[in-house]
Amino acid sequence: QVPLALLLALLIGYMAWQASASRMSFSREITLGIARGEFEIWCQPLVHAQTHACTGVELLLRWNNPRQGWISPDIFIPLAEQENLIVPLTRYVIDRTIKHIDIFPASSDFHIGINVAADHFRNGLILNDLKRYWFACRPSQRLMLELTEREDLQHLDPQVFRQLRALGVRLAIDDFGTGRSSLAWLEMLKPDVLKIDKSFTAAIGTDSVNSRVISMIIELGQRLGITLVAEGVETALQEEYLRRQQVQILQGWLFARPMPPGEFPAWLERHQRL
Ligand code: C2E
Ligand code: CA
Ligand code: CA
Ligand code: CA
Repeated sequence: QVPLALLLALLIGYMAWQASASRMSFSREITLGIARGEFEIWCQPLVHAQTHACTGVELLLRWNNPRQGWISPDIFIPLAEQENLIVPLTRYVIDRTIKHIDIFPASSDFHIGINVAADHFRNGLILNDLKRYWFACRPSQRLMLELTEREDLQHLDPQVFRQLRALGVRLAIDDFGTGRSSLAWLEMLKPDVLKIDKSFTAAIGTDSVNSRVISMIIELGQRLGITLVAEGVETALQEEYLRRQQVQILQGWLFARPMPPGEFPAWLERHQRL
């Protein structure tokens, strides 16, 4: 008779093997998807809270997988991070940005926002990868790099930040309020922008803890002199609150959903005529 413990161990082993095998094949698919150009960058506009002028776009990856159709970045980005594919994927985004560069206004107060992983800052790798961008863009076409606070950012080299800033790049801390930045660290890195996580925007007008936390985040940003962007703005009530609190820039479905790059110039023209 086979002992139950052995059977269980075999079963668990088999399940773990299955899980890692499917992860493996998924990461192979990401690599293939990059090679085959299956990813596209969609653009979501950001607007000035008082004037509604468009201050830039955030580029968001979309994956048109031949077998599964459109896959959300919430699924493939965490996997790409685990499997060391986030740097190649970001390089892909940089390439696509260059490909579409002509659809973006060449004005130094318009920013093209790209999400980057902390890994990309190691040894100044990002500086090297952006060389092609500098070569292709017009001098006034500025980038904003968004680094999520979900990652440990404490070990980033302030020297790389300084070099990027000297090249006109702005730095934003994404998902602010969900991670673990310390005040000392914010003082040291002095990001240009804090992006208030959409979970806080969603809490506006409710009596949850988050609705009180958002006013603290706003005050923090203002005291440190850092520009605030609120993401996930969906309702007029949220907009009204954020404007009253002097949050400078807003992003969300209330203004525009992410759109294919080909649609952005027409959107911008319509928006400017309003
Ligand atoms: P994120 O950087 O926080 O991007 C904002 C997300 O909020 C986007 O989800 C956007 O479509 C969504 N969003 C915008 N306005 C609203 C709104 O009014 N309401 C709601 N409920 N959602 C709104 P998306 O495009 O699904 O991307 C999810 C996450 O995947 C991003 O969150 C980012 O962390 C990651 N991601 C996307 N593209 C890239 C990329 O190129 N590189 C990296 N490293 N990460 C990316
Ligand atoms: Ca972002
Ligand atoms: Ca965010
Ligand atoms: Ca997020």
